[in-house]
Amino acid sequence: MSDLPLKDVADLSEDDARLELERLAKAIAAADIAYHQNDAPEITDADYDALKRRNDALEQAFPELVRTDSPSGKVGAAPAEGFAKVRHGVPMLSLSNAFADEDVEDFVVRAKKFFMADILRDPGFKLEFTAEPKIDGLSASLRYENGVFVKGATRGDGAVGEDITENLKTIADIPHKLSGSGWPAVIEIRGEVYMTHEEFRRLKEHSAKFGGQDYVNPRNTAAGSLRQKNPEITASRKLRFFAYAWGLAEDGNGNSQPPAATQWDFVQSLRSWGFVTNDLMLRADNAEALIAHYRMIETQRASLGYDIDGVVYKLDRIDLQQRWGFVARAPRWAIAHKFPAEQATTILTGIDVQVGRTGALTPVARLQPVTVGGVVVENATLHNEDYIKGIGNNGEPIRNGVDLRVGDTVIVQRAGDVIPQIVDVVLDKRPADAQPYVFPHACPACGSEAVREHNEKTGKLDSVRRCTGELICPAQAVENLKHFVARDAMDIDGLGDKQVTQFYAEGRIARPADIFTLRARDERSIKKLKDADGFGATSVKKLFDAIDARREPELDRFIYALGIRHVGETTGALLAKEFGTIEKFRETALAAAQHEDGHSLFPQISGIGETVRSSIMAFFANERNVQALDDLLVEVKPKPYVVVVSADSVVAGKTVVFTGSLEKMTRSEAKAMAERLGAKVAGSVSAKTDILVAGPGAGSKLKTAQDLGVEVISEDEWFERVGK
Ligand SMILES: [Zn+2]
Repeated sequence: MSDLPLKDVADLSEDDARLELERLAKAIAAADIAYHQNDAPEITDADYDALKRRNDALEQAFPELVRTDSPSGKVGAAPAEGFAKVRHGVPMLSLSNAFADEDVEDFVVRAKKFFMADILRDPGFKLEFTAEPKIDGLSASLRYENGVFVKGATRGDGAVGEDITENLKTIADIPHKLSGSGWPAVIEIRGEVYMTHEEFRRLKEHSAKFGGQDYVNPRNTAAGSLRQKNPEITASRKLRFFAYAWGLAEDGNGNSQPPAATQWDFVQSLRSWGFVTNDLMLRADNAEALIAHYRMIETQRASLGYDIDGVVYKLDRIDLQQRWGFVARAPRWAIAHKFPAEQATTILTGIDVQVGRTGALTPVARLQPVTVGGVVVENATLHNEDYIKGIGNNGEPIRNGVDLRVGDTVIVQRAGDVIPQIVDVVLDKRPADAQPYVFPHACPACGSEAVREHNEKTGKLDSVRRCTGELICPAQAVENLKHFVARDAMDIDGLGDKQVTQFYAEGRIARPADIFTLRARDERSIKKLKDADGFGATSVKKLFDAIDARREPELDRFIYALGIRHVGETTGALLAKEFGTIEKFRETALAAAQHEDGHSLFPQISGIGETVRSSIMAFFANERNVQALDDLLVEVKPKPYVVVVSADSVVAGKTVVFTGSLEKMTRSEAKAMAERLGAKVAGSVSAKTDILVAGPGAGSKLKTAQDLGVEVISEDEWFERVGK
């Protein structure tokens, strides 16, 4: 890090060295925790490596000062709380790093020296090395027993990782059963879980649409996705896996059984067993060829579609690896040749503010075009106004608290990020007249006041400033229309972003309802659509027909299409299921919105939390939103959500009462399930009640039921009976 006193090691006194080692141990430990446990690195990889190198140099010069908690003896951080721990059969390694070509040459020379006797004795002795890209993902170890995937774990601290078996099973590249033959009875396959740039972009766009979290880079997103408590979330993230090594490998009797004679052969075997391996692998017997391969991969880095942070060289023959052995916990026979961080210096020429569908004002940095890692960068994300000021999401300083000013010379980084970021400001080059950036308090699109809301839960100011213009804001209106017609919402053929933007600009549509009156208005208009740019009589008729074809949309799509903040597709479906009709939803939400204690009027729906409920009520509290919905409902009749009633179920026609606290479902879920099975759900026990489902804490209803001789069953018995 730039603020560390990088005195030459030889000039340091013992006291200086001791203090610096202490500081380094703390800094590296903090960085390890941020990186491995919280998936949120606070310093760049290059800075981190610099700290490690400095630490190594100091330890070498002052061996008597090596700390008991020395970072050089550590691989990563201990596992995070919450997942079961898994002890790896063979520890997962960390590699020594090489940064310069000379380090690679040294590595090859060291190998030659170590095996000199063999080289001299046997003219046919070949010392070969493999070179493979180092994937910037999350290391995982997969245990297969008799060819079946039984347990998967993160690296953790190298010895003990977290059990993420269920999450790993959702990754298509990971075979549940090995194909082919020749695999040991028990084998730990090692590899890297990663996320492609394409998937990362998709996720980011999706999240931006729903006002969700901001993903930093593919690596952290992959890590976060892999450590979800709910494997379905992991499955939805489309993670990938490259296999490249093994840990434990044993035959059926517990004897060690290396699965191949060389690393090269092993990777071929991995393919035949059904794993995906990286194509950019090379085998060579000299440093020049290895370095040339590194350069070749470096030039391809930007276009690979996934992040890599270097190239790994390994001694190819497994028997020779075993002979050469380890130093501390790193193998002598392998080394990681790291890429320099992809950074470039340029000038911040301006800051633009864009307005999203939910009114969020997002600043974007305009940069003097510069090439970073093979890609021309002209824009960088600035997230929000605090970010420009040098303040992070939790109030912590970023860029050492330095703000960004137009005219600043800045350092731009694409270290794995698809969207470039400004990592630093060169303060020496700040123009004397540079002014602090003043974030607009008015919406650049409509002039309405833009405010930062107080988050009720955290008591903090929301990091996002939002335009309060809502429906009068043209930027929000256009984004809302785009959302409304989108494929996953109303899905109107021939009406996409481009047409919506054009129609809005031409004054043809301003709100969703206008889409459905377009044909009638066009017939009366003298400025007919068929004469407009890019249209003809046929395409206009087709468009109008496509619009008419969507006048009876599915209820869940319709609710989602309304664009209520935090209401995504899943929530739309939950609401549709709960309310059944748009009228019922509108009536309930409106009543809740107008009530002092609205939350008590809005039903508790499993999967819908307070944030979503508040957001729905806020939507309905706005008269203009209600008016827009009502106008839309004049034109559109969403289909009622059909609940499939199975009349032949054992509870069909029965009257059921639920009481006490249910543990496996919410009360509304229980009610919905019973109704779906053809039962009638009542609120109180009477002589007409057939079944009382009583959870713990059941009181008077249970007593009444017992007095009346009504059948009483537990929640578990209920599930048994209905066969769920
Ligand atoms: Zn606005």
